Order: sequence, then structure tokens, then C-alpha cells
Amino acid sequence: MSLLTVIVPCYNEEEAIPFFYEEMGKTIEKFKTDFPDVSFELLFIDDGSKDGTLKVLKELRSKDERVHYVSFSRNFGKEAGIYAGLDNAKGDYVVIMDADLQDPPSLLPDMYRAVTEEGYDSAATRRVTRKGEPPIRSFFARMFYKLMNGISKTEIVDGARDYRIMSRKMVDAILSMGEYNRFTKGIYGWVGFNTKWFAYENIERVAGETKWSFWKLLLYSIEGIVAFSTAPLAIASLLGLLFMVLAFVLIIFIVIKTLMYGDPTSGWPSMVCILTMFGGIQLFSIGIIGQYLAKAYLETKGRPIYIAKEKE
Ligand code: UDP
Ligand code: MG
Repeated sequence: MSLLTVIVPCYNEEEAIPFFYEEMGKTIEKFKTDFPDVSFELLFIDDGSKDGTLKVLKELRSKDERVHYVSFSRNFGKEAGIYAGLDNAKGDYVVIMDADLQDPPSLLPDMYRAVTEEGYDSAATRRVTRKGEPPIRSFFARMFYKLMNGISKTEIVDGARDYRIMSRKMVDAILSMGEYNRFTKGIYGWVGFNTKWFAYENIERVAGETKWSFWKLLLYSIEGIVAFSTAPLAIASLLGLLFMVLAFVLIIFIVIKTLMYGDPTSGWPSMVCILTMFGGIQLFSIGIIGQYLAKAYLETKGRPIYIAKEKE
């Protein structure tokens, strides 16, 4: 016998959970014929939802033994939800799935086969299209992955979803990374292990709406960069060096020019432009340092990643 835990982070998903539960039920039936010795644990993480999510989960729990839930004291974000799921999962294998059916459960048998029979530690999914998403959002997402992979040694796959099945070994490796600022896409790459990739076309959510605004995504991408690359710090120093050299050349040029042609008072506008530019660059660089300082500050506090209010 082996146990497969399905982790479902939920934030205001009262509308989507019934669809998810039904669809998952079909997949479990399919497993019964293909892999008769697998049992399931459905672990829902209620991430401080403000709607009836917890009530829906309690109802499911009362009629289905396989359902478990952890309910947070407030909204801690999906990353914390994933961590709590991994932390509470009892399975030999663990899969993370969104509640909105954007991660098709129908792929699960093939993913399970990859980790049990084909010798992979993990099977993950990526979207090959971003159909149904605003074009600007897709454009910036693509830019982010390009930038990220350019400046970070940790590989972060473009279009990778959080939908992923993992062996117990990999789950324990991820849990051993207790950082407070979690960027799971980077953590997967960092822990290594061999991963089989499944590609699929984007599917739109069944009910409810996305929790990600453009602004939230932008902040999240900065989080990812700060968590998995120190290149911005190097860029700040390089900029400083570059402009120092430039200033030196300019000084020599001006001294020679003054000696040869005298010094009529001029160049006020250019002076203001240069001052503004240098002021800007300096603030930008301090800002970069500030980002890292802020993260280091939060890490040293050693706060818990999530606080559970209820657990069943
Ligand atoms: N989610 C969560 N906490 C949050 C935001 C989202 O647990 O603070 C869950 C959400 O309920 C869903 C999954 O994370 O199951 C993905 O969220 P969403 O569908 O809004 O993101 P998208 O698919 O649009 O990237
Ligand atoms: Mg979604």
C-alpha cells in the first residue's frame, strides 16, 4: 500500500471546491483500476479565507474520511499554504494542486507513474500557452523568466506551475528549507532531484476568480529575484564603478579644456541633468541593498511560516 497526499491551497474557493472534489473523485476512481494499492489523503489548506471555504471543507470532512484540512489564522499566502501542506502531509508521495481545476487531475496517473515506475523523484507540469490571460501579463511573465534565469544559478522553468508530484525524499528536502521568504519555484530548482516535465495548454479556472493582481505578481517577482539571486547587488556596484571611471575621464577632459580655452560660465542645465541622474542611480542602488536588508531582517526574526487555527 502507498499513500498519496493531495495538497490543495484554498483562498476564498467556496465555489470551486465542490467542482474540484467531484473531479478528484473521478481521478481516484481511475486510480483504483490502474493502481489498486494506492490510497488517498485530500489535504485542503484554508489560507484564511473570508468566504465559506472552511464551512465547505468541514462538510466534506464530515462525509469523507480521506479529507483533512488545516485552517490558518489569517491569509498567509499560497507559499505558506504549500509549506503547511507539505508539513502536514502523511503520504509517501505528495502532489500539490490548485482548487480551481487549472491543474488537471487527469494528468495525475501519468505523473504518479513517473515517480513510482520510471525512477523520477518528481513530476512537474508547465503551461505551454497562456491562453485566456491578459497579453501584458504574459509578456511580463516571459520577461521575468528570461531575467531570472540570466541572473540566477538556480533553474526556474518558464511557465512552470506549482502542480507537481514529489517523493517523500524530495518533500523532506523542501521542508528542510525553513526560510520565511518562500519562493517555491526556486526552491524546487534549488533542492535538485530529477524531474519529469509534462506540458499542457492553459486551462481557465472553473469558478471564482484569480487572486493575483498585476501589482501582486510584480512584487512576487521581485521577491523571487531577491530570494534566488544576488546579481542586483553586483549590478549596483558595477554601475558605481562604471560612473566613477566616466567621471574621472570627464574631469581630465574638463581640466584640459579649461587650460586651453579658458572658463566661461556655462553648462548649468547639463549640470542639473547629471546631478539628477546620479541622485537617481544612488537611490536605486540603495533601494536594491534595502531589499536584501529587509529580507535578511525578516529572516532573522525567525517567525513561523504559518499559524494554524484549526486542524482536522
Ligand atoms: N491561493 C492561496 N492563498 C492565496 C492566494 C491563492 O492559497 O493567498 C490559492 C488559490 O485558492 C488557488 C491557488 O492558490 O487554489 C492558485 O491561485 P489562483 O488561481 O488565484 O492563481 P492563478 O491560477 O491565477 O495563478
Ligand atoms: Mg488559478
